[in-house]
Amino acid sequence: MGRVIAIANQKGGVGKTTTAVNLSACLAANEHRVLLIDLDPQANATSGCESGVGNLDGSVYEVLLGHAPLEAVICSPASGLDLAPSHISLAGAEVEMAAVLGREKRLDEALESVREDYDFVIIDCPPALGLLTVNALTAANSVLVPVQCEYYALEGLSKLLNSIQLVQRYLNPDLQIEGVLLTMYDERLQLSKRIAAEVRSYFNDKVYETAIKRNVSLAAAPSFGKPVIQYEPRSTGADNYRLLAQEVSRASAVLA
Ligand code: ATP
Ligand code: MG
Repeated sequence: MGRVIAIANQKGGVGKTTTAVNLSACLAANEHRVLLIDLDPQANATSGCESGVGNLDGSVYEVLLGHAPLEAVICSPASGLDLAPSHISLAGAEVEMAAVLGREKRLDEALESVREDYDFVIIDCPPALGLLTVNALTAANSVLVPVQCEYYALEGLSKLLNSIQLVQRYLNPDLQIEGVLLTMYDERLQLSKRIAAEVRSYFNDKVYETAIKRNVSLAAAPSFGKPVIQYEPRSTGADNYRLLAQEVSRASAVLA
């Protein structure tokens, strides 16, 4: 049965989408069956890997509102993974779902019919702790938290941990922390090193050995609709995400 990992941090621009797309692509390159679910109305994960896909047959918006089964919107871009795309209409979903019974469990229920088809389901969350992220945390086995190596990195993490605890208490008692990922690490900067040390001392062995360095290829790849391992396979960014994928699949093999 597939392992469902939500990539979440309510802080914006910390590398959630970059991690969701590139971790998914590296896992798929290692012969894992991977579904990437884009749960952010900004649809950055969708545009970051949809190269090779023609017209989309709907988005997770229709799925959450019960207008389509998840299978119906899944497409197969050239990146070797399956994608459940987002659409700007998802921005209205939180309001439209406000009166829906069981609204926190919509994604969990929709996943039921496809869980068996994948080894990994990776969910890219929006930068907020609203209903969309709650749906992701309710459907997930675990949360992977990207933390940007900059000054305000730790600020707000307690709020995220608090949300995780609430979801554990009321909606998904088995939810775990998959790991904490240091992103945009710059080894030339004392600040980066200091933040990395702080995060490691707080989260201990929950922090991945692999830190994702700042790398121009990672920033450029999305404009070509490709994960970095296809856009620039020899880049540092590609190397970093390949190592992260190894850590993630080792951890899930231990659990299986
Ligand atoms: P949001 O909260 O808006 O969804 P996010 O957490 O998903 O943002 P990303 O979109 O992944 O963050 O990254 C923010 C910006 O930083 C993007 O322009 C991305 O290309 C760039 N970026 C992410 N990781 C790296 C990296 N390791 N090196 C260089 N640029 C990066
Ligand atoms: Mg994003």
